[in-house]
Amino acid sequence: MSQAIIIIGSGMAGYAVAREFRKLNSETPLLMITQDDGSAYSKPMLSTGFTKNKDAEALVMSNAVQMSEQLNMSIRTQTSVQSIDTEKQTILVDNETIEYSKLVLATGASPFKLKFVKPESDRIFSINDLDDYRAFRTASQGKKHVAIVGTGLIGCEYANDLLNGEYEVSLIGLSQHVLDTMLPPEASECVTKSLSDAGANFYFERSVVDIQETVDGVIVELDNGEKISADIAISAIGLAPNTKLASESGIETNKGITCDRSLETSAKNVYTLGDCAEVDGMVMLYVLPMMACARALASTLNDEPKLVSYGVMPVAVKTPACPVVVLPASNENGTWDIESDGFNTTALFKSDQGELLGFALTGDATKQKQVLAKQVQAIHPE
Ligand SMILES: Cc1cc2nc3c(=O)[nH]c(=O)nc-3n(C[C@H](O)[C@H](O)[C@H](O)COP(=O)(O)OP(=O)(O)OC[C@H]3O[C@@H](n4cnc5c(N)ncnc54)[C@H](O)[C@@H]3O)c2cc1C
Repeated sequence: MSQAIIIIGSGMAGYAVAREFRKLNSETPLLMITQDDGSAYSKPMLSTGFTKNKDAEALVMSNAVQMSEQLNMSIRTQTSVQSIDTEKQTILVDNETIEYSKLVLATGASPFKLKFVKPESDRIFSINDLDDYRAFRTASQGKKHVAIVGTGLIGCEYANDLLNGEYEVSLIGLSQHVLDTMLPPEASECVTKSLSDAGANFYFERSVVDIQETVDGVIVELDNGEKISADIAISAIGLAPNTKLASESGIETNKGITCDRSLETSAKNVYTLGDCAEVDGMVMLYVLPMMACARALASTLNDEPKLVSYGVMPVAVKTPACPVVVLPASNENGTWDIESDGFNTTALFKSDQGELLGFALTGDATKQKQVLAKQVQAIHPE
């Protein structure tokens, strides 16, 4: 039997590449190794659980046994890969050495942690996988008030979902606006107003200096001395690609595990995709780039090398109180042309020559997504 292609990670990236590979090749053995229980689920749905009335179990599409059957792939769950020997083409798992013909690193990203939060806390959550979500849903039962640290995409999505679940929500952020790294202020204000109208309390331009856990809740202390009492808290202050396994094994990393458009890392026959990867200088923690990588990599793993091509990839923010679609510009040299009525915003980012480089849409203006996306050049024009 030929050596297996090994995939590390059972997130959307790991399963996407396995699925795409099996469309091309039903024979070559595949082995997936994952730290978690191997459930296949759509991570973006984590921030719609209350709105769609789905708890962690309801979000599972297939368990590891079902995925193993569907993809004719061995899956080892609750197992960490300890190290990679890129010369011998082996990995170390539970003191066992396993050879690979090709290795795929799909190790995802991990949330930044607030330094004063105890790892075992059952009141303060960073929700980036199904286990986190399960624990959060259990803790949120019968509670009323959730404090959310972070006013970026993840913080705003969880806020809107919790408001839909009839929780009181307080959001604390360093910036003046929500989604400040993604949107021009006029568009941010629409989202802030809509979430406020839906009941959210905002604490802008504030940092959290401490969160104390009390007998029945948390007290979030801000840098101006203000204290917010809540039942539980979510920390949503950003994610960093998981690069440790790669870097400790001598594979080049920067912000993510670095690779060019072939998706091969600095080590021969070791590839990467998904949240852990820095592809052609870009770390993109979204599904569309990951799917493009999965398709290209499947072909490469099947000995038909293919470069990934990123098209035009707008990002939707799941804040139904005020829907948002953003297409970040790949070139920062331009100016915004903005029309907003306080809910609907069309913000177009154009070059001096009038070429559309990116856009930000809120409210009903999000319906223009397709039309506008067609006017923007792909990141990697074919
Ligand atoms: C709340 C939320 C909402 C989102 N909404 C959207 C959206 O609307 N649109 C969008 O495009 N994107 C969205 N995203 C981002 C998107 O979900 C992610 O980009 C994508 O799911 C990342 O998948 P991944 O497989 O790369 O990483 P992960 O899901 O993090 O998977 C990593 C896997 O690697 C395993 N692993 C790590 N290290 C090891 C090791 N040493 N040994 C073995 N296994 C290991 C882990 O156990 C895990 O199985 C959202 C993210 C969140 C958190």
